[in-house]
Amino acid sequence: MEVFTSVKSLRQFLDQQVLQQKTIGLVPTMGALHEGHISLIDAAKRDNDIVICSVFVNPTQFNNPEDLAKYPRTLAEDSIMLETAGCSAVFAPSVEEMYPEQPVLKINFGELETVMEGASRPGHFNGVGIVVSKLFNIVKPHRAYFGQKDLQQVSVVSQLVTDLAFGLELIICPTVREEDGLAMSSRNRRLNAEERAIAPHIYRILAAAGEDLRGGKKVYEVIAWAKGQFENIKEFTLDYFEVINIKSLLSVEHIGPPGSNAICVATFLGPVRLIDNIIF
Ligand code: AMP
Repeated sequence: MEVFTSVKSLRQFLDQQVLQQKTIGLVPTMGALHEGHISLIDAAKRDNDIVICSVFVNPTQFNNPEDLAKYPRTLAEDSIMLETAGCSAVFAPSVEEMYPEQPVLKINFGELETVMEGASRPGHFNGVGIVVSKLFNIVKPHRAYFGQKDLQQVSVVSQLVTDLAFGLELIICPTVREEDGLAMSSRNRRLNAEERAIAPHIYRILAAAGEDLRGGKKVYEVIAWAKGQFENIKEFTLDYFEVINIKSLLSVEHIGPPGSNAICVATFLGPVRLIDNIIF
């Protein structure tokens, strides 16, 4: 498995593959890989001849400098995991390679970015939109793989593909969890032992809220109960807990048919901000 750090060398490799009519799957990541990422690689391997995994901690999508500075960077371990998983090549550019010039383009996703992550992290989806567009233009994949764990990112990227006619297929993969229910995340590495022991409450509360909604409880009652649960555990500082329509991402007062709603949560656990969601 080759690790490319320049656009030029990656393109030379990919041009050869295209000449041989190979199909290309792209898995964009920020590294510090875990089984969740590997599930995307597995899906990409099933559908494509060649799988490219990008590993790039994209500074333009961080609105919090401390979060960017402390984001785990583990390229050596990541490369071993990717090679074992059967990934064809890694694209791990430097910041200067990705951004020879600071981009001036601003992408506005309208209502999609006024809620949840967009509201809490100003500029985040502009940064995501720019880096994902660059990766799509550099790699020119037939398919690109994203995780449901970042539900709002999926909506934003899907809008990008439609509005800018990227001509690729988006494949959305389910959230991979630890045995105790905690959604796998690179940021879990930053939790201390005490925080890690508390972290599974996030999914416990999500799952219980989902059950209650399915059982007919009112949305506002379930939200109040869930917020109370987070307040009871002092290590949590809840950012949002919302029941939304999966298409518009807007909050709903009543739930729709199966598959049309999600419960989304973002909370600080100590200094670490974690997100999770379930679709129901
Ligand atoms: P990240 O490196 O956190 O930017 O994530 C890269 C990709 O992996 C994104 O599409 C994420 O949604 C996806 N991902 C992250 N965590 C998980 C998980 N636990 N299960 C499935 N996909 C995930």
